[in-house]
Amino acid sequence: APLLVMNNVGKTFSNGVTALDGVNLTIREGDFVSLLGPSGCGKSTALRLIAGLSMPTTGRLEWRKAVGDDCVGFVFQEPTLLPWASVFDNVWLPLRLRGVSRKEAAPVVGELLERVHLSGFENAVPRELSGGMKMRVSIARGLVTKPRVLLMDEPFAALDEITRFKLNNDLLELWQDERFTVVFVTHSVFESVFLSNRIVVMAARPGRVHDEIAIDAAYPRD
Ligand code: ADP
Ligand code: ADP
Repeated sequence: APLLVMNNVGKTFSNGVTALDGVNLTIREGDFVSLLGPSGCGKSTALRLIAGLSMPTTGRLEWRKAVGDDCVGFVFQEPTLLPWASVFDNVWLPLRLRGVSRKEAAPVVGELLERVHLSGFENAVPRELSGGMKMRVSIARGLVTKPRVLLMDEPFAALDEITRFKLNNDLLELWQDERFTVVFVTHSVFESVFLSNRIVVMAARPGRVHDEIAIDAAYPRD
């Protein structure tokens, strides 16, 4: 079932730059969609529109199901962790902001840390962690509210190849188990083919969808 429909969406910034022009895109519930394309083709702009952080200048973007603030998780390239807070407290934060106590949060935080292979690091602070571990914390934090949709903007671009591959595997496993919807911005062909069931290929100028590739066969749906 369609979750989000973008109809002829365009975005021109106040400086006159057109980042998106006439984008049509449907995201279905449970999709793992990659937005693939070179730098500057409008991927992040599209993700910001989907996130509601910015408004289209033309066309329509419509959520077909109520997806409140609680239902969207974000993971950016910069893990943006609170530097003075422990791993546990960083993951707890989105729940804490919703009034969930440390004690109440403990089981769900603990389970997520296990899923991202960070059990035992609850009390570490970010500067004690590698880049990959920080990204794992960021993923756990993005999932802690059990969002319906996870938006990821080049999350692994700054990581070395081996770490990146491990994180790709772990993310895929989480998605296969939980089936939240993912919109994943990347300029890596490998990553998009490996992770997603649908690739939206974007053309550089002026930010249009060039092609859509379905790779459902790799992940049969039941
Ligand atoms: P990508 O994520 O594919 O690298 P972006 O969506 O970041 O592309 O950017 C698309 C184009 O829009 C680029 O030319 C970029 O410089 C421009 N752009 C992005 N955000 C803004 C903004 N807030 N104001 C002006 N131009 C912007
Ligand atoms: P909107 O018009 O959707 O509100 P803004 O113009 O407020 O978007 O810019 C959104 C964000 O993009 C801001 O954080 C801004 O600093 C950043 N930004 C501005 N210019 C650029 C650019 N050329 N490329 C990428 N990001 C930009």
